[in-house]
Amino acid sequence: MKKYNFNAGPSMLPREVIENTAKQILDFNGDGLSLMEISHRAKNFQPVVDEAEALIKELLQIPEGYSVIFLGGGASLQFCQVPYNFLIKKAAYLNTGTWAKKAMKEAKLFGEVVEVASSADANYTFIPKGYEVPSDADYLHITTNNTIYGTEIREDLDVCVPLIADMSSDIFSRPIDVSKYDCIYAGAQKNLAMAGVTVIILKNDKLGKAPRQIPTMLNYITHVEKGSMFNTPPVVPIYSALENLRWLKAHGGVEAMDKLAHERAEIVYGEIDRNKLFKGTVVEEDRSLMNICFVMNEEYAELEKPFFEFATERGMVGIKGHRSVGGFRASCYNAQTIEGVNALVKAMQDFEKQH
Ligand SMILES: *Cc1c(COP(=O)(O)O)cnc(C)c1O
Repeated sequence: MKKYNFNAGPSMLPREVIENTAKQILDFNGDGLSLMEISHRAKNFQPVVDEAEALIKELLQIPEGYSVIFLGGGASLQFCQVPYNFLIKKAAYLNTGTWAKKAMKEAKLFGEVVEVASSADANYTFIPKGYEVPSDADYLHITTNNTIYGTEIREDLDVCVPLIADMSSDIFSRPIDVSKYDCIYAGAQKNLAMAGVTVIILKNDKLGKAPRQIPTMLNYITHVEKGSMFNTPPVVPIYSALENLRWLKAHGGVEAMDKLAHERAEIVYGEIDRNKLFKGTVVEEDRSLMNICFVMNEEYAELEKPFFEFATERGMVGIKGHRSVGGFRASCYNAQTIEGVNALVKAMQDFEKQH
């Protein structure tokens, strides 16, 4: 049976990205060695890093004066690496969910942290607005897409201090104005590649300002200066990112991904709002296009498990909601097809007819 992958992360990738990566793992560039057994300093691997970096700059139209690096450690390492490198005295954080809270916790190790707003009291069902950012903050940290709660800031905010964003689960799903940010980071395993690499976009002239000793490996400057080759980078994950970046470019880039994201979301949210059995968990204006969260309507609460089983029998994978929200979550990253969301919607409709 055909499987429709709605996993939140690691998540669906285009089939050809997986196949092309698999081929290179067996025989890299036809040289008779695996991508897993060559030196990261080999002459034929440097072009992989160079092309991946160039494609990221091209696809996101990154202006002059920014660097792109590839590191291990996941987005979670960035929760401490960001304040290590950027927090001088005081940082502002917008608390929109689990990941934002984790980022804030690490920042407190390095200085004063101001929570400018939070939707924790409403189980993070909306994105706070109209908050004030202290003008003396070194930066405002935001999580553009809240993977667990299904809310999203799908615009580039205008604020009076530098912006730093965790874009782990919506990077490359829309055009962004990189010039508004001092730092953007994204763990790859949601919308870019297999797990194991994090992409970090840094404004060069903002580096090296924090008044503290930074261990070499945690200092962004180390990796910018060495072009992500200070130590052994995650070679295979970077290669898979390159394949996906090529796929992205061939499929119309981030503008096309944005359009597709809106199309998919309209189909799924449209059905959630129409179907008597289900309801969305998030206020309408803040609904994520990437992670679509929904639950049973109260009077049909007992149908949660039966619907899960019904949908699973029809090939849906990974639609169980995160335990802090419950219900269902359909993750619709770039690789998700209209066919996939239509299959989910059909399951919702057929299940409704039975009840
Ligand atoms: C998954 C996720 C993280 C954590 O990523 P790791 O790579 O596992 O550390 C952080 N932020 C967001 C928004 C995420 O979706």
